[in-house]
Amino acid sequence: MERMSVEVPDSAELLRLQPTVRYDSTDDRFRGGSRHLSAVLPAVSSAIGHPMPTPLHPDPDRTRDELGLPDASSAIVVLIDGLGFWNLAMRRGHARYLRSLMGDSANAHPIATCYPSTTVAAMSTFGTGTCPGLTAMTGYTQLNPETGQICQLIQFKEAMEPERLQTQPTIFERLTAEQVRVTSSGLPKFASSPLTRAAFRGADYIPNVHPKDRVMAACAAARTPGLTYLYIRDADKTGHNYGWNSDKWIGAFERIDAQLNMLRRNAPRGTLIVIVADHGMIATDPAQRIDIAAEPDLARGVAAVGGEPRAVMLYAAPGEDPESITRRWRDRLGERALVRTRDQAIADGVYGPVADRVRPMLGDVLVSAADRVTIVDSRIQSDKATRLPSVHGSQTSVEMDIPFLIDVA
Ligand SMILES: [Zn+2]
Repeated sequence: MERMSVEVPDSAELLRLQPTVRYDSTDDRFRGGSRHLSAVLPAVSSAIGHPMPTPLHPDPDRTRDELGLPDASSAIVVLIDGLGFWNLAMRRGHARYLRSLMGDSANAHPIATCYPSTTVAAMSTFGTGTCPGLTAMTGYTQLNPETGQICQLIQFKEAMEPERLQTQPTIFERLTAEQVRVTSSGLPKFASSPLTRAAFRGADYIPNVHPKDRVMAACAAARTPGLTYLYIRDADKTGHNYGWNSDKWIGAFERIDAQLNMLRRNAPRGTLIVIVADHGMIATDPAQRIDIAAEPDLARGVAAVGGEPRAVMLYAAPGEDPESITRRWRDRLGERALVRTRDQAIADGVYGPVADRVRPMLGDVLVSAADRVTIVDSRIQSDKATRLPSVHGSQTSVEMDIPFLIDVA
């Protein structure tokens, strides 16, 4: 294996908005195309001998080649919530196993997550091998066109039933239908959570309270050919509560590294291990917090606010022209955010192909925060939610770049 060290760009570069990642990119020097979270399960399905084409990845064998995945009868895919490629690279001194993996040249470059870089959108993109424009999961909150209300897609508050909102078949259910073993190892409370039903339905779910038991359950499942999924949430949770740059986060990160090392040591010989994340995290700056409630120019003409502090969706009031809202927001925010109408964003390929039924769920105006800016609405969000020390959702490198680490036990 060729060794290589990862160079971390300076923080101004990492916090700059990046060009929109294209799902249809064929240039593998850039993120997009196969170098995307949506490609991971199609590629793994090919590696285990049951290729599952999707509308965005019609040739899983090629996708697997482009991602450099070896064949294996059994694969374990680990998704670490919130552990972006640069978050990992900047703290790799605390993670011996991950550091050694990253030192392999095949693992030394990020792939991209979807936009918005947030769990609900990324989980469904990953689970179906498609994109938010098809999964209808386009943000932490979004409009429910059936009720006219904003719904929240972690617990599906005010939302449609998960199976009715997210209608793309999951890779798990498609593999299961072909008699392939699919096992998901996770916390008991997520066994039949709405997000699991939307993004990961079809797996045999093994619930365990303790992290070590979840690791060992994944290793035991991997003795039978097929696919095993292990979800690790603590980097995201600790990041939101204490900041990804806190000592508490480092403690969580060290424990995650220990769990992964344990997985590697106990997985049956020859098991393919793939480690990814759903998004990275930026540390917020209280001085860069913008409250829509305190800004008449920003609130004007906006009937509802969805999304999240780094990826805001504005729903225009009846009769209001989205272009006027866009102009006012651009004037007010300048370099601090990228402001696009829905039509511009869709034309840019932000969400991948967008189904007709998904269009009205998206805001009329979409705002992506740059640098360490957060855009909150104290009329509808709790004070705590508007002041989280670390968040994600926008299209900076820190948020969009995710690890894609390959190991073989
Ligand atoms: Zn999060």
